[in-house]
This record gives sequence, structure tokens and C-alpha cells, in this order.
Amino acid sequence: MAGRIRDDDIAEVREKARIDDVVSQYVTLKRAGAGSLKGLCPFHDEKTPSFNVNPSRQFFHCFGCGEGGDVIAFVMKVDGLTFTETVERLAEKYGVQLRREDGDDEPVRPRGPARSRLLEAHKVAQEFYAEQLGTADAVVARQFLDQRGFDQAAAQMFGVGFAPRDGEALTRHLRGRRFTDEESVAAGLVALGRSHYDRFRGRLVWPIREANGDTIGFGARRIFDDDRIEAKYLNTSETAIYKKSQVLYGIDMARTAMKDAQQAVVVEGYTDVMACHLAGVRTAVASCGTAFGADHARVLRRFLGDHDTTSGEVIFTFDGDSAGQKAAMKVLETDQVFASQTYVAVAPEGMDPCDLRLKEGDEAVRELVAKRQPLYRFALDNILARHDLDRADGRIDALRDAAGLVAGIRDKTKMDSFSRELAHMVGVDVDEVRTEVRRAASRPAKQPDERRTPRASEAPEPVEPPRPALPSLSDPRFLIEREMLKLVIQHPAGVGRTTAHVTTGDFTHPTFQGVWEAVTAAGGPTSGAEDPGWANKVRGSASDPAVVAAITELGVEPVRGTSDPTPTFAVAYVYRLQELTTSRRIADVKARLQRTNPVENALEYNRMFGELVMLEQHRRKLREGAVGQPGASA
Ligand code: ZN
Repeated sequence: MAGRIRDDDIAEVREKARIDDVVSQYVTLKRAGAGSLKGLCPFHDEKTPSFNVNPSRQFFHCFGCGEGGDVIAFVMKVDGLTFTETVERLAEKYGVQLRREDGDDEPVRPRGPARSRLLEAHKVAQEFYAEQLGTADAVVARQFLDQRGFDQAAAQMFGVGFAPRDGEALTRHLRGRRFTDEESVAAGLVALGRSHYDRFRGRLVWPIREANGDTIGFGARRIFDDDRIEAKYLNTSETAIYKKSQVLYGIDMARTAMKDAQQAVVVEGYTDVMACHLAGVRTAVASCGTAFGADHARVLRRFLGDHDTTSGEVIFTFDGDSAGQKAAMKVLETDQVFASQTYVAVAPEGMDPCDLRLKEGDEAVRELVAKRQPLYRFALDNILARHDLDRADGRIDALRDAAGLVAGIRDKTKMDSFSRELAHMVGVDVDEVRTEVRRAASRPAKQPDERRTPRASEAPEPVEPPRPALPSLSDPRFLIEREMLKLVIQHPAGVGRTTAHVTTGDFTHPTFQGVWEAVTAAGGPTSGAEDPGWANKVRGSASDPAVVAAITELGVEPVRGTSDPTPTFAVAYVYRLQELTTSRRIADVKARLQRTNPVENALEYNRMFGELVMLEQHRRKLREGAVGQPGASA
């Protein structure tokens, strides 16, 4: 990247790009006395003009909404461009050669035909295509539109056209209008193989326009079975005027409504944009041939006037299918660049807005948008759906995954209400959620560029958490399990029959579960009572190296609290172990209870409540046993 544009060149742009001339391309201006000009403001909706342009002082001001500034500020605002983009564009149009501060005097954009020529070529191409839609050759194209509920007026409104099958028709037409082949190729309209040929042929084409209405590219849909290009959609490739990472189809029609309604609806295709606008959702746009990315977000934000203080909504419509869900999760990663609230509208049965309008009418499309739900909620549902919330470890995993999401919420005031919501959805205590959210927040964040520049071309992938490493065997959570197994391996005679009711399910650490399985495979503690080779026998019945290592460890580590454990000593551990198992079952039932609606599912609710009461009783008995009554039976 070269350095910044020289100040004197910027000054020259300001001088040559007369504000009255530039504004007139967007607003009809009338004399208003004292050398001032007046018109209807492009930045807010108004019936009587309060938008003033002062040519002698080279600034504009709107008394209605307060917007104002110089010619560069006007174009930035009205076309949603950056400062540099605006200067480059005006320089090109008004014949100013831009140079960079640190460069030699090399002009900024010396290569290729002028931007204005590329725009003109597109204007000619768009008119040509639109005309072709009426020809006999285009009957399939017209049927396509008709089958999707678009009549001739709709086609005209959106400038839809037809690229003839002949393959050179546009090339010839552009030559006839005095465009050089070099210009047509640079515009992306014509390609060069052995000879020049039309980039789009035998396809239905949508003009892709900039905010100011200039056509800068096309989207083309396959409509003939014998189309040699398989791709359903072809789009203009990158050109000097077409940047697919920034282009939003429909922005020219949507931008005023977006500003007024403080809302943008992002749909997936050209026909969806059409359907939305025709149904009265006039804020709809779509990215073209690429996933909605960070640059698109930036463009939207400019048109929404999105500052941290505003509450503009961005609503994404998705199919309810898994691809749509993946896309939504992808947006969530990009979402952090929005201060706006982000929502998801999921159509029933995976219908897109175009299908929806066709099958259920305009009202259904408006309703789809009205029934939006916050993206975070949608994403939470998605994460939770991946876990079995009826299991304690499932709830822990779900909580950990979801906590990362909650911790990433930019609006910190919302974090608490989300934590509560999450607690309710998972069926755990809200304090547990808060702890997990704090833990997630303190984890190192992803690199900003990783998050902000998703590769648009890559298929969106769901964020799969890495498989967690097994917790340490000496973690205090597993103390009872550990001591129990030490007793079993070192003092099988002392443990004896007390373990008759112990099962693998009493152990929570996978390695300890493996150890218990090895114990069982070796015949259980009673068979070890008289066997001096017992510990080795247990070791021999294990195959997992982690389990084998654990058995060795458990075989040598001193037992806590006694050097000669009696059956009474051992039985207290057995009760304690089973009490913990019961507590986990109680937590499972409580979690399920919390997620069950007692009114809608009264039967289920009451059954679980009964189970809970029984488990509590059982636990009390085990506790009494654990404090040491020799011979007490479970
Ligand atoms: Zn205004």
C-alpha cells in the first residue's frame, strides 16, 4: 500500500469537484436566494426542502437532520464510502491526478480505463440486457420470473434482463457504442479467449448497483439445462469498480428505508431481495456470490449511521436447515463489528423470502421479519442442541461452550440477563453460569484480524470446541473415587463384600471407570482377598495405558487416614461414593425439572418430582450409613 494521498491533491479535488455539481447528481436543487440552493434532503425523509447547498462556500447543510459538510463529506455519506475511496472517485471524475505522500510522482491509479468508462459500459449493458428480456429468445427467462411471482413491472423495477445465448451479442453491441474491447474486458462484461466473447450468456441477469444507482456488475442465473457452466449463479468478478466483499445487492433501493427504519434485512439471493421489497420490506439487501462478511457489515453500518449509541437492527434471514444455521454462526463471529442489535429471522420449513411470498403472500414475508429473534438466542439454542442436557457432563460442556458466547457480548448490560436465560435453558444455577462466563472472559481472546476478516470464500464451518483433556486424577473432585480404588487394590480383604452394589456408574473420571472395569474383570475385590497377586491381576485385565498407569499408582499410594483399613472404614467410603452418585442423579432430575413446564407437561413434571423425593430419601440413608454404622446395608 502506498502512503496517504497528498494534501495539495486533496485540495485540488475539493476545488474541482464543485459541490453544487456533485450534489445535483443526487438531489434536484433549486435556487433559494442569496446564491444558495435548496432541495429534498437525501439523508432524511422530508416533504419540504430543508437541505441547503452553498456553492460559494462549498458546503452543504440540512436544517432538518443537521447533516452538513464539504463535498467529500457529502459523497462519503451518500455513497457509504471511506475518505480515500471518495477522493479517488472524485479525482477520477473531475480529472485530478492523485499522488501519494511517500511515493515518487507516480499517479495513484494509472492502469486501465477510467472508472467513468466502466460505469458507462455497465449502463449500456444493463439497458441492452433489459431490452433482450422482451425477445423470443428470453421466454425461459420470463418463465423463471413468472414462476417466482415476478411480473413485468417487477422485472423493470429491478432492471432484470436477459443475456442472449449467442455469446457475442453484448460484445458487438458495446463495440457499436464505441467501447473498446479493452474497456469491455476491464468492466468484466466481456472475456477474452481465442476471441472476445460475452461473459454472461443465456442467463437471467440482475444489475448490481451502487448506492447512487450506478450499475457496477451483474449477477447471472443459469436457466438453460445445456448451459455449459454448471454454477447456478455467476457474478461479475473483481474489477476496478466491483469489489465483491463490499457489494450489497439492493442497497440503492434500500438505503433510505434503512436509515429511516434503522433496520437492515440481509437475505441470501437476488430473488429474495426482490420478494422483500415487493412485499414491503424495503430494507432488504444481499451479498453477491459471497458470504456476508466484515466489509459488508462495515458498509451497512455506514448506511445505518451505526454509532454505539444507536439501536439500529440488522436482521439476517436464514433457512432453518443446517447450512442456514452454520451461516448464522458465521455471522455471529462477524457480529462483533456491529454495535447494532443483530437478529435472525428463520422462515418456516426452510423457505426463503421468495418462496414464502410465492406460497403465503406478502404478509408472510413481513411477518417473517417481524418475528425475528436475537442472534445470540438463536446461537445459544444451536449450541445447547449439541449437548445432552439430561446428563451432568453434558450440562457442563454446554455451559462451557455457551459461556464463551455470553462472555463475548459487547453490550455488558445484557450479559446478566443472558446469564439468567442460559441458566434457565441449561437447568443450572445462575451463579454457576456467572462463574463460567467469568472464566470464559478471562481466556485469551482470538486475534482481532482472525475474527474480523473471515475468508468470505470459505464455506462457513461451525465452531466445534476441541475435545477437553481429561482432568487430573488427583483433582479433589475425584478424591473419594481415588481412595475407594486404592482400598480395592491394596486391601481387597478389608473391602470385601461392601462393594457389592458399586458399579462403573459410581465413578465419574473415565480413567477410574476403566480401573473399576479392570477390577470387575479380575473377579472383584472378594476374589482378591486371598490372592497375593491381586494387584497384578487387576493390572493385567486393563489394556488402556492410562488405566494401567493409574492402577500402578493406586497400588502404591498410601491410603488416607489409616494403615490398616477395617471393613467399617471401607464401608464409609462405599456409602460416600454412592451418595455422590445419588447427588448427581438428583442434580440431573432437578435440571430436567427446571426445563420442564409444570403446566404444559404436568404428568412428566409430577413423575420427576416423585423421583426427586425418592432420591433425596435414598441419599439421606446413605449419609447416615457413611457416618459409620458397621453392618448398615445400602
Ligand atoms: Zn436532512
